[in-house]
Amino acid sequence: MSKKEIEGFTIFFTGLSGAGKSTISQLVETKLKELLHRPVTVLDGDQVRQHLSAELGFSKQDRDVNIRRIGYVASLITKHGGIAICAPIAPYKEARREVREMVEQYGDFIEIYIATTIEECERRDVKGLYAKAKAGEIEHFTGISDPYEEPENPELRIETEGMTPDQSCQLVIESLQKLGHC
Ligand code: ADP
Repeated sequence: MSKKEIEGFTIFFTGLSGAGKSTISQLVETKLKELLHRPVTVLDGDQVRQHLSAELGFSKQDRDVNIRRIGYVASLITKHGGIAICAPIAPYKEARREVREMVEQYGDFIEIYIATTIEECERRDVKGLYAKAKAGEIEHFTGISDPYEEPENPELRIETEGMTPDQSCQLVIESLQKLGHC
């Protein structure tokens, strides 16, 4: 077994609400389990907020705490040879950099920017949140009334418009293959 096959690593998706992070995470999770026969742990944005960060809101400070928690868990998984897939919005560059540093002590950190435009996210409006944010019913909504700092040097950037979720997943898998992870 080569070293890469037993090393842990973290895939970290970032992007606006409705960009496709959860959808692509689930597809990548299934594909990796098939290809590698290894456990994969998904830290989905909404689920983490429900279970690990239930008391937090959406101020910059609370968002940063949430991302650090995700980073800490991902770094533990990576340290122990596991595969972590994180899918929070993670709008702040500095918090993403901190997570990268935590994880890279133990294994690869693969940052993937799901670069769906705000117009497309609003068109999809999967959870009806953009309509509410635009009506002023939700404060601190990323892209509407809160910032999103785009990643400058992600390992991969996916523009999902005009692409199926399976095609987006395939781009992730190809990127992991290039890095020797599958
Ligand atoms: P997020 O987790 O980023 O908030 P979701 O995955 O919950 O976003 O929602 C994304 C929506 O966009 C889903 O309804 C999905 O079917 C749709 N979609 C359309 N094309 C793509 C694509 N290429 N990749 C991912 N999702 C896509």
